[in-house]
Order: sequence, then structure tokens, then C-alpha cells
Amino acid sequence: MKYRLSGLAAGLVVLFLLPYLLGPYSMHVADVTVIFALLAIGLGLALGIAGQINLAQVAFFGIGAYTVAILTTDRGWGFWASAVIAVLATVLFGLVVGLPALRVQSHYLGIVTLGLALAFTSWVTNASISKGAEGIAGIPAPPFPGLDLYDQYLYYYLEIVVFLACLAFALFVVGTRLGRRMKAMRDDSIAAGCLGANVPFLRLLAFGIASVYGGVAGVLYAGLIHYVSPESFGISTMFLLLAMVIIGGRQSIWGCVIGAVVLSLVREWLVDAANYAQLGYGIVVVLAVVFAPTGLAGVPRRFARKSTDTGRATLRPLALNRVATDDALAQPGASIGIDAVKKNFRGLQALDDVSLSVQAGSIRGIVGPNGSGKTTLLNVLSGLYTPSSGGFTMDDEPLGGSRPAKLSHRGIARTFQNLRLFPELTVQQNVMVALDRSRSRATLSYLLAPWNVFGDERRLRRRSQEILAEFGIAEYAAERPGALPYGIQRRVELARAIAGSPRLLLLDEPAAGLNGQEVGELASIVTAIRDTGVTVILVEHNMGLVMSLCDQVTVMAGGKVIADGPPAQVVTEPEVIEAYLGDVSQVEDLVPPADPANPADPADSADPVDHEGLKA
Ligand code: ADP
Ligand code: MG
Repeated sequence: MKYRLSGLAAGLVVLFLLPYLLGPYSMHVADVTVIFALLAIGLGLALGIAGQINLAQVAFFGIGAYTVAILTTDRGWGFWASAVIAVLATVLFGLVVGLPALRVQSHYLGIVTLGLALAFTSWVTNASISKGAEGIAGIPAPPFPGLDLYDQYLYYYLEIVVFLACLAFALFVVGTRLGRRMKAMRDDSIAAGCLGANVPFLRLLAFGIASVYGGVAGVLYAGLIHYVSPESFGISTMFLLLAMVIIGGRQSIWGCVIGAVVLSLVREWLVDAANYAQLGYGIVVVLAVVFAPTGLAGVPRRFARKSTDTGRATLRPLALNRVATDDALAQPGASIGIDAVKKNFRGLQALDDVSLSVQAGSIRGIVGPNGSGKTTLLNVLSGLYTPSSGGFTMDDEPLGGSRPAKLSHRGIARTFQNLRLFPELTVQQNVMVALDRSRSRATLSYLLAPWNVFGDERRLRRRSQEILAEFGIAEYAAERPGALPYGIQRRVELARAIAGSPRLLLLDEPAAGLNGQEVGELASIVTAIRDTGVTVILVEHNMGLVMSLCDQVTVMAGGKVIADGPPAQVVTEPEVIEAYLGDVSQVEDLVPPADPANPADPADSADPVDHEGLKA
């Protein structure tokens, strides 16, 4: 911390003194470099942090610059008023460019945004308002009391103030809940949605923020150069920008800044060989992607990565501490009614009229052969699939067809059959994503009440440490999930699911891949969770686990419910034996021996509730 502060102070002093060391030409290079650094930060936020392939950053830059150019020259507006309109226009364009991100991702998104960037360049080259290929000259410098900003030495200080503010805001976003949600979305948008992240909103926001940085950079550029023309905002500038962000390290804001500075200098050295320089950037980008996928900023971490064999974590007896962070979640344990849900995939009936009700605070097992629709049912309950017909209720409130984020905020949490941890987040950050129950509108506090965000951050950090300790995985807090043994990863996913204080927990084959001891630990975790009052739906192949944990068991086959009732009764039903178990001789093994320490509650077997509304 002390070193950081002194580093920061030293950096500021260097930034402040720089103009005293530079001749006029170098000063100009420094002025342009600051503008590129701003652009790179914006691109880094969209591309590296939020995972949105945005190849239109250069068009954002152009719209900012051109708007100022047109308004200050043609219309005779003042510089600052034009600057405000320019940034607003850029954000509007940014949101339009972001719209396709709601439908397509990855390289498709890259192609769409590149297309929009090219459309922008061809428009400014041809339109009369932008004076075509000739460009617009005579843009004034911004007026400032007491300072002549035509002087590029003084202009540098204006840039630095804007740059530091924008850098600080970017670091603020990346280091707190919004950035964490964006990274979670980048790593796994499905899991992020199921943990309460409003994915479409975050994608648009990523484009919105990137466009603010692009627009501000464009305004500064117009005020510095006093001239704009189409080639400054063309595809080669876009690739230079991309190279800055990828070489520096797109997942780190500092990396983006370093990349921008390094490549701006390289560009100056190679200014007489611009074509070779283009080729050079291309080669360096490819090398960076292959050998340093996290860019220059990631290199120290690669060397620092310790290869500790952490052995096995032992699970202490769990005393889960339920902390309701949201009024809606104050009451643990929701009752669930699933009503005639059908789901078909192009003719395949994955769910065929599934109805069942689950009592608040109970553990419901769902078993059935592979392909019988168990995961599909959980996907419907967590909002990943919209049922073709039918729906479900939680405490009698109809929720079928709601989006995953909404269901998460209503208190539905889940784990996945094939783990979906966020690979680039640490274990603690994985849990913090789930702990963060803030709604999309709370993003406004980033502008209106940033101190609240810091307060939330402290609370999330403290609570995540408690949860990691409760689950016996505190020692892995700083590790990335991929480095951990499989059983630990499963436990991290459970901790993450519980972190949001859900009222309904959906577990999809949580015992898959676990050894005997780990299955035992899983059983005690699930029991502890149920003891806090949470309703649990457990999809599982491990019949021993199902028999010992579940109050009621539903058997599915071919998308239909074929039996439903207390475990011991269900396994004796002839349809179940035929459809699922196949071989009657196995049934003996499935019924667990009576556990004298944990006698079955007689109320369980006589419970009529679960049979209501069932077809058969
Ligand atoms: P289970 O979890 O019981 O093994 P699933 O719910 O995963 O079964 O799958 C039920 C059936 O639905 C399977 O035949 C599967 O191939 C099909 N299915 C599931 N999801 C999809 C999808 N997104 N598109 C097409 N078919 C699907
Ligand atoms: Mg499944």
C-alpha cells in the first residue's frame, strides 16, 4: 500500500514535469499519446473487462471529433457546448452499435461492429456536412480563463486532468461490483445471469462506457489538432488501437495505458515506414495473443504463479449463517408449484406436461435416466429456458418465463451439471459476484454516490470471507478455480450458489465426479443448507444420496413425471423399476438401511401435499 502510494505520487510528478523535458515535437507526440491512452482504456473496458468485441471504438473517436468540428466551425458554437453534444452523440451511436451485442457475441459481434465502423468512415468520406475527404479545418482550441490552450504545452495539462479522471473512473469500475459483474459476464454469461447480472444491460453499458471514452478522446483530438479528416478514423487506426489493448493486456486498465504509450512511441519511430509498421503491429498482436495472452500486464503474474499442491481441504461442520441482504429474501424457503410445463426443442419433447409442487424448506430429489429432462426442468426454473407452455410459481407468484437475473433476485440459485465457475475470477471474486444483489439501476451510484459503492465493496468482501470460511475453502480465496481439484471446484460452486441467500436452491448432479468422502461432505452441506430453511431441488444419479437426503423424490422418464413420493415408496413402484431401474434386483441396494440416528419423520411419508395437481 505504501509502495503503491509512493509509486502513484512519483507517477504524478513525472506527468506534471514532462512538458519541461520535451521539445515541441515530442510534446505533440505526448499529447496524441494521452488521447490514444483514453481510447485504449475505453476499448479495454468493453473488450477486456466486459468481453464485448468492439471494433467500432475508432468510430466513437471519430464521432466525438467530427461533432466538435462541425458544431464549432459550421455552426459557430462554443467549444465546450459542442464538446458536451459530441459526447452525447457518441454515446447514442455507441448504444446503437451495442444493440447487436444483444443477439450475437464473439467474432460475429466483431464483424458487425467493424461493419458499423466502416460505414462511419465511408459516410464521413462522402457526406457534404463532413466536407468529404478534404476534412474540416479551423477547429478552435477550447477557451479557458487564463490559459491559452492553443499552446500544446498547456493543452497537455488539460488532457492530463481529463485523462486522470477517466483513468480513475475506469479503475473504480473495474475494482468494484460493476466491473466484477462485467468480468463474470465475459467469462460465462449464463452463470452470470443466473447470479443476478442483467446481461443485456451490462452489454449495452459496456458499449456505452466505451463510447464515452471514445467521444471524450475525439473532443480532445479536435481541440488539439484543429483539423479532422476521414483517414484519422479509419481501419488502420482501429488496428493500432486493438494492438495497444491486446499487447498491453486487455484485462488490465494499466495494461491498456502501457500498450497505448508503447505503441504510440513505436508508431513515431516508424512514421516513415507506415506500411511496414502496420505489418509489424499485426505480427506483434499475433505473438502477444499466442505467447502472452494476458498481455504485458499479465507477465508478472505468470512468473509469480505459484505451483503449490494445496492438498485436500477439510470441511468443518457447517454452521451456515444466513444473511438476507434483500427484503424479498428475508423469508427462507419458498414453496414451488410447477404447473403443466412443456418444453420442446424442434419436435423433441424434453418436458411433457411436468407438474409438481415442492414444499417450502424441503429437499426434493429428481431422478431419471439421462435425457429424461431433469436439466431442462432446472433450466426452466432458473429462467434459461422459457417453457413452450405452462409455468411455475414461487409462493403462488407466477414466474414462468422470467429472465434468469430476475429469478436470481427473487431468490432462485443453482449449480450446473458441468461446473460454470468464472475462470478468470478468483474463488473469492466468484463468491462476491453472487453476494452482490444490487439491481441494474444501482449502477447510477457510480455517478451519484460512489462512496456507497465503496461501502458495499467492504461489506461484500467481509461477507465473502465468512462464506469461504464456512465452506472450508478460505485458503483458496485468491486462487483461480481452474487450478483447484475438482471436488473443491464443486464446493466453490455450492458456496457461490448459497452466497446470494437463495430461497430455492437447484442442484444439478452435484455429486458427479466426487469421491466417496466428498459425497459425504456434500450430503452434510446440503443438509446444513436445508436446515437454514432453504428449499432444495436436487437432481442426482447417486441414489444413495437421494435416498438419504430427500423428503420427496420425483422420477422422470422421457420428459414426463412417472412417479412422485417419499423415497422408499417411489423405488418400489413398478413403472419406476421398469423405466428407470430396469433391473428389479438393484432395488434392494437403493433403499438405504434405516439410520437409527436419523429416523424418518413419519409426517414425510404421509404428506399429501406433493401429490396435489399431479397427473398420475
Ligand atoms: P437430463 O438432464 O435428464 O439428462 P436434459 O434435460 O439435459 O436431460 O435433456 C432432455 C432432452 O432434451 C435430451 O434429449 C436433450 O438432448 C434435449 N435437449 C436439452 N436441451 C436442449 C437444447 N438446448 N436443444 C435441443 N435439445 C435439447
Ligand atoms: Mg442433466
